[in-house]
Amino acid sequence: MFEQYKLPFAYDALEPVIDALTMETHHSKHHATYTKAFNEAAQKAGVENMDVVELLASLDKIADESLRKALRNNGGGFYNHNLYFSVMGPNAGGEPTGVLAQKINETFGSFEAFKEKISGLAVSQFGSGWAWLSVKKDGTLVLSQSANQDNPISLGTDDKPIFCIDVWEHAYYLKFKNLRASYVADFFKVVDWSKVAALYEAATR
Ligand code: MN
Repeated sequence: MFEQYKLPFAYDALEPVIDALTMETHHSKHHATYTKAFNEAAQKAGVENMDVVELLASLDKIADESLRKALRNNGGGFYNHNLYFSVMGPNAGGEPTGVLAQKINETFGSFEAFKEKISGLAVSQFGSGWAWLSVKKDGTLVLSQSANQDNPISLGTDDKPIFCIDVWEHAYYLKFKNLRASYVADFFKVVDWSKVAALYEAATR
């Protein structure tokens, strides 16, 4: 049974940046639906005891095409939102510190330059999708974007995602309407960089 990430804060805790109705709909409807559909498809495929990362990395082993598609979309939706919600928090924002900050500076020049690059990927993703910060096998950082519920794992890279920005309209339309760039800019105010730093350390351990 794949468990949906439980928010450690209330739906209105990210107000006024991310409104309560968006958080509630996003988590209790969209993410819950992906989780339910993922569990159903995983049971049918007999992969319900696999690790989600291993499963998304080996989708080509699922022979049935419609099951493979269901696992890719709903397993992606499950995994992606678990990461997305887990790096958000109230009283957050600011910049990372420690090793992650060092690595970001090394790779992108500065936190501002990193923010500009990943925001560009988030805003320019055509249609629904995601922007990603991942760790490569050698510990270096890499940015990417993906469509639908794809992610660096289901796209076949060895990169380990540690931070993402959801740019599906359901993530911002109630408050920001068509202004995706405003949502992306505001999203940084609710990023808990200590969570991202812990993921970076786990990925490089
Ligand atoms: Mn979403």
